[in-house]
Amino acid sequence: MTKTFSIAVFHGDGIGPEIMAPTLEILRRMSEASNGYALRFMAPPAGAAHYAATGESLPAASMETARNADAILLSAMGLPDVRYEDGTEISPQIDLRKALKLFAGVRPVRLKVGQKSPLNLPPGREIDFVLIRESTEGLFYTQGRGEVTENEARETLLVSRDVSEKLFAFAFALARTRKETGRGPGRVTCVDKANVFRAFAFFRQMFDAEAAKYPDLTADHAYVDATALWMVQKPWDFDVLVTENMFGDILSDLGAGLMGGLGLAPSADIGLDHAVFQPCHGSAPDIAGQGLANPFAMILSGAMMLEWLGIKHADPEMTTDGSRLREAIEEVIAQGDAVTRDIGGTASTKIAANAVLDALFVA
Ligand code: ATP
Ligand code: MG
Repeated sequence: MTKTFSIAVFHGDGIGPEIMAPTLEILRRMSEASNGYALRFMAPPAGAAHYAATGESLPAASMETARNADAILLSAMGLPDVRYEDGTEISPQIDLRKALKLFAGVRPVRLKVGQKSPLNLPPGREIDFVLIRESTEGLFYTQGRGEVTENEARETLLVSRDVSEKLFAFAFALARTRKETGRGPGRVTCVDKANVFRAFAFFRQMFDAEAAKYPDLTADHAYVDATALWMVQKPWDFDVLVTENMFGDILSDLGAGLMGGLGLAPSADIGLDHAVFQPCHGSAPDIAGQGLANPFAMILSGAMMLEWLGIKHADPEMTTDGSRLREAIEEVIAQGDAVTRDIGGTASTKIAANAVLDALFVA
């Protein structure tokens, strides 16, 4: 029997719609070719252009559609000249993260043999680790609400037991899945600054308590500064990294750099019941409408969605389709003819996306 999953699709601003269209086409083709699952796409309005037209960046009805969906697929949102009245950027993705309590920001960092990277990796070395960034508190807790007087400004670093325990449980579960599927050795590293901040000592203490529940996995710690160094010097050494919000913000851009750029970096924001999948990059208004956008980060986010749905609903066909899709993109990147300008090619968005379809469906 075919199971149908409803997907809330936010097409976004700038290059958003240009990279979402081929992504949906690929997902539709994969689900049509599957035996067990179907995808139903809904497109609730949201974003900066919608705000400019209506004064709402994420209407309540769109939030409801997202809340009721099995998963949320989101393209880049925001435009430089459209802002909220207080001057901040239009960011419905942050409203979703808060409302749906998406505490785990998942940033896979992968680089297969044959792909270009700013690093000179030793022959045969590949990168395949996952950075998990706490996404609801940490140093972003007072975002926009810090205290500023004439001579001082203060922000708060919040580490709560509730969120940290869920975060670490998520990290160890992911490491276990990776171990079971042969992707990693089953190791979780807590990235902090526990030598200086009591909040991080607390963070680490909860990490250790969670680690004790997984005798089949390895747990260790690293300071964030050393982690930045090792991400450049021996990035093949990591499996699952879990860290605070601001540290994760910075390290995930470093991770995107290792992979060869923002156009290749997918992400997921995951909670207990909901998940949003989106590229790490913004709406790139400078190249919108020219067919230059790299669709791979968006398509890779779709692959992550399939894997997540497959694991959550015990549907191995979906999980496999997610990894097949990721591998098809990696094949196209390694082959090198059908890649966009940002990663050294000359192909258009359409040609790059079609090459992925060919890798999937043309034997
Ligand atoms: P945000 O604040 O939303 O993160 P940003 O201003 O930091 O946005 P992006 O929109 O991510 O920046 O763009 C940064 C640079 O990377 C731009 O020059 C943009 O053209 C380029 N870029 C981003 N995404 C892509 C993509 N998918 N394909 C090609 N180039 C991209
Ligand atoms: Mg940015």
